[in-house]
Amino acid sequence: MDTKNKGFNSKLVHGGGFKDPLGSAVTPIYQTSTFSFENANHGAQCFSGESDGFIYTRLGNPTINDLEKTVAELEHGFGGIATSSGMAAVNTVYLGILASGDHMVGHNALYGPSRAIMESLYPKFNVASAFIDATDIENVKNAIQPNTRLIFLETPANPTIGITDIQAVSDLAHEKGIVVCVDNTFCSPYLQSPLDLGADIVLHSMTKFINGHADVVAGMIVTKTEAHYKILRSVMMNVGCNMDPHQAFLTRRGLKTLAIRIDKAQENAVQIAEYLEKHPKVEWVKYPGLKSHPQYELAKKQMRGPGAMISFGLKGGFEAGRTMMDSVKMALLAVSLGGIETLIQHPASMTHSKISKENQEKAGISSGLVRLSVGIEDLEDLIGDIEQALSKT
Ligand SMILES: *Cc1c(COP(=O)(O)O)cnc(C)c1O
Repeated sequence: MDTKNKGFNSKLVHGGGFKDPLGSAVTPIYQTSTFSFENANHGAQCFSGESDGFIYTRLGNPTINDLEKTVAELEHGFGGIATSSGMAAVNTVYLGILASGDHMVGHNALYGPSRAIMESLYPKFNVASAFIDATDIENVKNAIQPNTRLIFLETPANPTIGITDIQAVSDLAHEKGIVVCVDNTFCSPYLQSPLDLGADIVLHSMTKFINGHADVVAGMIVTKTEAHYKILRSVMMNVGCNMDPHQAFLTRRGLKTLAIRIDKAQENAVQIAEYLEKHPKVEWVKYPGLKSHPQYELAKKQMRGPGAMISFGLKGGFEAGRTMMDSVKMALLAVSLGGIETLIQHPASMTHSKISKENQEKAGISSGLVRLSVGIEDLEDLIGDIEQALSKT
């Protein structure tokens, strides 16, 4: 059915518009590498674009296409480009937008590999970059060079939960003809619409909230314009970082419950953040739903809810962080986020341990910082688990 003027949950369930000729209630898995043409003329039309028939799965596939259309609709964009992983989506944007001699400005607390690959691989292609705290618009202004072509944001950012004003950065960028891309993984389209706030491109690690069941690695790009869609789709097809039909099927299934999953996880997160803020062993809590968050007002304006990601600092520092990791029983000690199960991790000894102490501090990652991705378990059980683990620190 056409879900154009329908609500968010209806789009989650029925979006994509796929109609199975045999009446299957869900979009089937077209587990095929290639598609046969009816005749020579049909084959020619598929290649020329006169027909929207499928050719070869790296270029397009009905199961993948259904997911692309659904996420594009949820993000209010022109079209979606599914990729093998979130990092494939990031690199597709880098390769499609940046050319030799260009410069990129990125937020300093981007997802680790999004920054690391830009600094380690792209200089080889004569692409330069600057990473700054984009939560202060003055820093963005000062970082822009005459050859800046792309501004890459992540908000809320990982693991500091800093929030960047997408509208303000987009206005500034567009005055200078710069493209703005937002990694919307932490919010999902349920809580934030970067394209409506002025961004040109939005991307996701669908591994996180969109799939939401910790059983798939996948990525997605949605562009506002047809021109960007064509450029980025061509990069994906020719680099070969396409999605697999089975991966698309699982992600499409997970996506159906995105809103009810986030509602429940967020309800838990609000309570846990308030609980942590009062706890004597906790020095500070960063959560967009708390008045103490430095960008609380911006979060309220830009996001439809505070989400399910919380960072907090333990008074006991590094050792307390490790003790807490060894003491939790229900929360899984794991990286990643956005699944139905609560995950906990300690960036200073885990995800960010390879970053120098100085750069950890610059990016706001203190030694006692703990990151919590709140799941949909019962609140009493989660607080009970955190309580007993904190008592050991
Ligand atoms: C996980 C993550 C990525 C990378 O996604 P993969 O699916 O693991 O490749 C990119 N950005 C953010 C914010 C993430 O959390």
